Amino acid sequence: AHLDAIEATDGALNSYLHVDTETALATAAEVDRARAAGEELGRLAGVPVALKDVVVTDGVPTTSGSRILEGWRPPYDATVAARLKAAGTVLLGKTNMDEFAMGSSTENSAYGPTRNPWDHDRIPGGSSGGSSAAVAGFLAPWAVGTDTGGSIRQPAAVTGLVGHKPTYGSVSRYGLIAFSSSLDQAGPMARTVADAALMHEVIGGHDPRDSTSIDAPAAPYVAAAQQGAQGDLTGTVVGVVRELGGEGHTDGYEPGVLEAFRAGVEQLRALGAEVREVSCPSFDLALAAYYLIAPSEASSNLSRFDGVRYGLRVGDDGSRDLDEVMALTREQGFGPEVKRRIILGTYALSAGYYEAYYGQAQKVRTLIGRDFLTAFGDGVDVLVSPTSPSVAFPIGQRVDDPLAMYAADLCTLPASLAGLPAISVPCGLSEGLPVGLQVMAPALADDRCYRVGAALE
Ligand code: GLN
Repeated sequence: AHLDAIEATDGALNSYLHVDTETALATAAEVDRARAAGEELGRLAGVPVALKDVVVTDGVPTTSGSRILEGWRPPYDATVAARLKAAGTVLLGKTNMDEFAMGSSTENSAYGPTRNPWDHDRIPGGSSGGSSAAVAGFLAPWAVGTDTGGSIRQPAAVTGLVGHKPTYGSVSRYGLIAFSSSLDQAGPMARTVADAALMHEVIGGHDPRDSTSIDAPAAPYVAAAQQGAQGDLTGTVVGVVRELGGEGHTDGYEPGVLEAFRAGVEQLRALGAEVREVSCPSFDLALAAYYLIAPSEASSNLSRFDGVRYGLRVGDDGSRDLDEVMALTREQGFGPEVKRRIILGTYALSAGYYEAYYGQAQKVRTLIGRDFLTAFGDGVDVLVSPTSPSVAFPIGQRVDDPLAMYAADLCTLPASLAGLPAISVPCGLSEGLPVGLQVMAPALADDRCYRVGAALE
């Protein structure tokens, strides 16, 4: 049914970059056979799933939304892909994304923009916009996204989905094409909090192949979602972050978004939560710090795309030396946003500037972490904010204005920089378009996100 739906509507949405109909049908048939034979089945046997194209998949094209990886078929599975496979899921295909996950609208994909199922003239968020559009458009029941500075939560918010960025280190990064290694996390995008919790349980947990993977038992996320769904938040202290859309900090926020967010907070209060306003002064610096740290790490990570090891190679006709082939390949293989970040990052890391830019940004990162610790230390269980300052904006509106594009990350960056879990759940509509409410929790307390998120649902 999902393959039929993709066939019928993905021409308009462009949510998938690659659909493997034959393998999907064969995997599904194998599940049917095993079930009929009474064999033991995986926890998610026969359930279809879509993967963001930043997730490496054995034998299945993986581009990370870039020309430079066109034609590359990886020889192995990312841990996330392997765990979903082992659980018996059926891979529908790989979803569109901003090139190397850099962007907030999926317009930076080398393979054309994805459209928002709610309004085809609007963006589905980014960088996991193919995943959000596929799930919101009923072309997949759920999907894996990745989030470096908001790329699971913001696309979920603007398409009316649930999206969770796990605690940094709780889902393996092995086999995710690296953007900013100290920030990247994979996580679930789904239509309900319970679905997101279930996928998180399957993909999460320790992985010795990722040196930043946390060796702690996976928490019972599904149970937390079920508990939250009972709708009783008595005893839960919710902190509303002043710096994220509160009094004196509403610049850049759409009034309709703030209205839906405040209605969501009132709903939490009505369910028994104690609501307090909390100040996190360093959050104002998150955007500036992120746009130094992420490009710095990207400039280092992307140096592996040299025209030799993967995918595209340009000008290798025997008339040019290695440096020329490398330069030509990168010139044609990388899009403008990726080049901008490589240049920014290389500059920020260069001798003489390192302390002034990268070093300062790392200090801000520490201060942001301290703001969270102070809030949680004062007895607050979770912090909340809008997920995105605006609803889905029109395609084309921000493509020529990187700063306007970066503003989409205002609310999601603090939890990213601090490595904390954060979920986006729908909290109403503004001008007929979905608005998301973000719930942030202490490290490894992802279950709180699922509990509070499910209560709001
Ligand atoms: N929009 C942010 C950026 O462009 C976040 C992207 C992400 O989380 N992958 O970097």
